[in-house]
Amino acid sequence: MYVVLGGGISGLSVVHYLQKSISKHVKLIEASSRLGGWIRSTRTPSGLVFEHGPRTVRPKGVAGENTLALIEDLCLVSKVVPIPYSHPTAQNRLIYVNNALHALPSNSICSLFFTQPPFTKPLVSALFQDLKAPRNLVKDESIYDFVERRLGKEIAEYAVSPLVSGVCAGDAKEISVKFLMKSLFEAEQAHGSIIKGTLMNILGGKLRNTFQSKCELFERAEKEKWSVWSLDGGLELLPETLGISIKKHKADVLLNSPCEEIIFQTGKAAVRVRKEIFECDHIISSLPAKQLAPLVAKQHPELSEELFSIPTVTVAVVNLHYKGSLLKNNAFGFLVPSSQNLPILGIVFDTCCFPKGDNTVLTVIMGGRWFERFFGEDSTPGRLLSTAVQYVHSILHISATPEDHQVSVLNNCIPQYVIGHYERIERIKAYVNNHNLPLSLVGASYNGVGVNDVILSARTAVDNLIKNIQT
Ligand SMILES: Cc1cc2nc3c(=O)[nH]c(=O)nc-3n(C[C@H](O)[C@H](O)[C@H](O)COP(=O)(O)OP(=O)(O)OC[C@H]3O[C@@H](n4cnc5c(N)ncnc54)[C@H](O)[C@@H]3O)c2cc1C
Repeated sequence: MYVVLGGGISGLSVVHYLQKSISKHVKLIEASSRLGGWIRSTRTPSGLVFEHGPRTVRPKGVAGENTLALIEDLCLVSKVVPIPYSHPTAQNRLIYVNNALHALPSNSICSLFFTQPPFTKPLVSALFQDLKAPRNLVKDESIYDFVERRLGKEIAEYAVSPLVSGVCAGDAKEISVKFLMKSLFEAEQAHGSIIKGTLMNILGGKLRNTFQSKCELFERAEKEKWSVWSLDGGLELLPETLGISIKKHKADVLLNSPCEEIIFQTGKAAVRVRKEIFECDHIISSLPAKQLAPLVAKQHPELSEELFSIPTVTVAVVNLHYKGSLLKNNAFGFLVPSSQNLPILGIVFDTCCFPKGDNTVLTVIMGGRWFERFFGEDSTPGRLLSTAVQYVHSILHISATPEDHQVSVLNNCIPQYVIGHYERIERIKAYVNNHNLPLSLVGASYNGVGVNDVILSARTAVDNLIKNIQT
């Protein structure tokens, strides 16, 4: 029997892939009363969707294709709502700097030669800086330091800092360059500059995409140039459908069942859920590393310490619905660089992405790495709501009272891949292998924080299990 810990999207995907390949008995153990983890979509009384966690998924690369193949497997193709690159919300990326919203330069070559505020020089000057700046051989560094060193402070400040806030609600000065810019970092380390390294890689054929697509939906996404996609009615439809499918295929799903301890015996394992013990051949944990840490602490304190030291941040999400079409900019939303010292990380313009009649739906995302600083003393729903409404008013000039709202505090919801993260993951993997622990680790704490990454981590873990059975 296999035990899967955690019923978020990665745990559900593990069960799905296990059922598709080895039809051994699978038990899914989930602490809360529902499946889906951070993926949660609710409806307002007037039928509008509020996303409390992830809202869009990128159809890019192996991980993007893998998720679209899962969508096909689950017969959800007709529910996919894509946003193509030509859509204004994919084209218009805004940042809030010095009390004003600014559009980031577009992807066109022409935009490299113009100076666009808040930048004080044309972007082409950053490319010259990259060609001139000396190489700095380092094992790892922050994404901010790398970009500042190679492309200048303004790019680090106005492009990279908000990007990091948007992806992981983190501080670009702490997050490893390998998190979002591994190939650019390696290009510099090998060839002395990002531009030279990238050109050498192109000439050497290293960037050639040899991946053969087998998924029709992925081929459609490429042909129609999708930037991102979501699901009609909200992204929670994905874990909901997975939940129904795994139960139909006889998975044993236990809700309200927090796992309190993992006990490893030679070649076997057991989990303790309150007073019950479940023995199994292998455990696949999709729990956030911090939550897995105490479960293995008794037998493996060293492993527990490594798991525990992967930091996380808390995010507050405030969903707001206003009557009428109140936004002046047709954009995905805007992000705020950390230098602006604001409690909000950004605001998503939901109804620009997915219009819903004469309504405006916004999602204000707050806190993250700075949650304690801004909300440590008062994180009551009232305070979070009034902060969100205040910034909607001052930045977007919307002074109406929201028709509906929802406030969610997502405690420790996003792991932070700080400098040294990838070395830590190697140590964790080595520990599990060297001690022959019947344990696989999947989910957002290890090799990617997005929906695609965690679904792919589930698939890889199951593929590896099958390989081990066959050898
Ligand atoms: C606000 C926010 C916005 C995001 N936006 C995007 C986006 O737009 N696009 C994107 O691709 N990604 C986004 N992400 C990331 C994405 O949501 C995550 O990658 C994904 O949901 C992680 O899923 P998971 O199953 O690995 O973990 P989780 O969702 O954390 O699931 C873990 C499960 O384990 C359970 N659990 C915990 N402890 C125990 C225990 N002891 N015993 C049993 N069960 C336990 C929990 O209850 C939970 O259900 C966002 C994340 C957040 C927080």
